[in-house]
Amino acid sequence: MALNPMKNVFHEHESIPVRKLVDLFHVFHDPKKQLYGLYHPTSVRLFRIDFETHKKLKEIERAYLRNENLTRVASRLEMDKKNLASELEELMQLFQKAKPEKKEPMMGGESLLTLKKIAVHVSNKCNLACPYCYAAFGNYQGKEGLMNTETMESVLHFLDEWGRKYNRKFVIQFFGGEPLLNWKIIKKFTEMVRDLNIKSIHRYSIVTNGTVYNSEIHDLLNENRIITVVSFDGDKTITNFTRINKQGKGMFKRIQEVISLLNQDRKFSLGSQATITPFHLDLGIEISNVLDIGYDLGIDGMHVAPAGPPVYWSPEKWTQFIESYARALEHSFDLFRKSNGRFYFSILLRGVRGLLFHEKKNLLCSAGTQYFSISTDGFVYPCFAFTNNDLFKITHVTDENAVPVVESESLKNLELLDRLKNEKTGCAQCYANSLCDACIYSNYERNDDLLRPDRLGCKMERYLQDQLFVKVLWEKYHEPTKWKEFMQAFTRKKDSQHGLEIIE
Ligand code: SF4
Ligand code: SF4
Repeated sequence: MALNPMKNVFHEHESIPVRKLVDLFHVFHDPKKQLYGLYHPTSVRLFRIDFETHKKLKEIERAYLRNENLTRVASRLEMDKKNLASELEELMQLFQKAKPEKKEPMMGGESLLTLKKIAVHVSNKCNLACPYCYAAFGNYQGKEGLMNTETMESVLHFLDEWGRKYNRKFVIQFFGGEPLLNWKIIKKFTEMVRDLNIKSIHRYSIVTNGTVYNSEIHDLLNENRIITVVSFDGDKTITNFTRINKQGKGMFKRIQEVISLLNQDRKFSLGSQATITPFHLDLGIEISNVLDIGYDLGIDGMHVAPAGPPVYWSPEKWTQFIESYARALEHSFDLFRKSNGRFYFSILLRGVRGLLFHEKKNLLCSAGTQYFSISTDGFVYPCFAFTNNDLFKITHVTDENAVPVVESESLKNLELLDRLKNEKTGCAQCYANSLCDACIYSNYERNDDLLRPDRLGCKMERYLQDQLFVKVLWEKYHEPTKWKEFMQAFTRKKDSQHGLEIIE
């Protein structure tokens, strides 16, 4: 086999453990490009293979699904069974030796000390009324309001203690509703962090709807290098439909204006998040177009996500969405190159980083382990999406025993601590599991079970990974000049101020 650099060792096995072998690889091909590839999830490595190898391994996959033995496979391939067994055995040995180079810490005990980011809701009020809003126009089905100074001080005290206890440094993500409606408390927060020398808070980010702006806000973002993520959903037509104010007025012009103001004298990274709806597809708007607009607006990085409930996705629309997403992924290679690493698509950067550094993700979603959120009134949740859901209240920042959140009974009761992608989560046999970033909130919304993967999300994840694999192999082996330019852009991004960090 083309992949096999090892010396032939003959084995008299009646039957190769087909099941075991199938768990070890994923083969794919692109019929138009006549490209054949193999992905080895355990070591997060990609290989180009030849047609013959692909054919044999596909037969092995088929045999597994049909519960057939090797004799049948050999006969279908018109091969001598012993030769086939020998080739497969060697391949298996090769796979078993391969290890990922980087692994996230395992869960349980000390390994939980991987807290990275905390969303602080300074406002659960919003000036917009986006029809797809998952947060009930910002208030998460609760009372509207802004975080007051007293709660902010308690949050700060809590975070300081938390950071000391676990010796961690966090990113604080200001969140809402619309957080900039309460920019004065953000200013106070950053001033207090400075004055009190709170070492655990080392970076800030903010997610804003891009409609609230003044020069003091600009100075605040600049002084604290606050990584800023502005939401917009594409061109004028769609954004004026999906992002509207309380009077129903479309916000495209205002968002465009604010982005251009932010771009003048900017000392912070500027990202964007687009929420894609079935209306995009009805209007023929490609996700690639959304990326182009972000590129032209001078944004550094873009992230897209499908709208969740109340928006309904029919299976046909979901397939169209995934296909558009995959085309955008392919297109984003060119934008990344063209901008010499300035403009990236989050899924591209995450996937390529995983493949180049052979990084394996062990955890299903980071909510409740590496990521938490704190509501306007000081309750701690695993993620902003769970705000005001009493089932997911972990603690309150003023509780006496609040600090060791990761040891708290409420977190244990949520079973969030057993989050390895394993048999229990149904991810153990999934080839996509090394790179997959699932979302426990989608699982919960769609399956009423945090740990049972959402079927639609899995379909998207696997499809996109396959497209990424094909594109990487194709450029690497068939368009080496383009690949070289891509790698130069990648190195430039890696060496830049924020390295390969993804803004989202
Ligand atoms: S800007 Fe965000 S919080 Fe406000 S209505 Fe739109 S989606 Fe909801
Ligand atoms: S695609 Fe689905 S089954 Fe596969 S690893 Fe991701 S969440 Fe688990």
